[in-house]
Amino acid sequence: MARYIGPVCKLCRREGMKLFLKGDRCYTDKCSVTRRPYPPGQHGQGRIKLTEYAVRLREKQKARRIYGVLEKQFRKYYFDATRRKGRTGEQMLGIIESRLDNVVHRVGFGASRNEARQLVKHQHILVNGKRVDIPSYLVKAGDKIEVREQSRGLKFVAASLAQIERRAQLSWIETDKANFAGTFKGLPVREELNEPPIREQYIVEYYSR
Ligand code: SF4
Repeated sequence: MARYIGPVCKLCRREGMKLFLKGDRCYTDKCSVTRRPYPPGQHGQGRIKLTEYAVRLREKQKARRIYGVLEKQFRKYYFDATRRKGRTGEQMLGIIESRLDNVVHRVGFGASRNEARQLVKHQHILVNGKRVDIPSYLVKAGDKIEVREQSRGLKFVAASLAQIERRAQLSWIETDKANFAGTFKGLPVREELNEPPIREQYIVEYYSR
């Protein structure tokens, strides 16, 4: 599956907030949102009044960018969510949060979702003891995620685990640092998903227009 490979800090500046796409750098004052808190481009510092449609579009784009998912796949998650019981927006976030690249990042093996994605693609990750190299693989409640024994020496995995306390602690994610393992305990608790904030209702309104 394809992925966005352009400059990522521009994406945060476009959304007007930190989306935490670069790992450690996002927590320093080198962050572009701190240094240049206005949208990129020649007219970035002009006055912008968003239409109702644009507000919803931006919310959808922001969520897509946070999780590093392209439009086709993101739209599919929305339609899958409409077929599930419960609130569509929350169900959609639940599906995206279960993506293996996201879970690897949440557990702490990758400082960003991009780094986590690379770990998965390069076959460093085991799910319930089996190698899985598909970043969009959906993890199920109770699944155990591990870094392969041969890959535990990777410097960036250790660096990411060492910084894990800096990130949001989530009740459905359990990390066993010493054993390079973690568990996805179940679907996310909506109230805990607030960094960066997502207004999923706008995304639902965008797709159901
Ligand atoms: Fe760049 Fe991270 Fe700051 Fe976003 S939050 S602008 S990715 S450094």
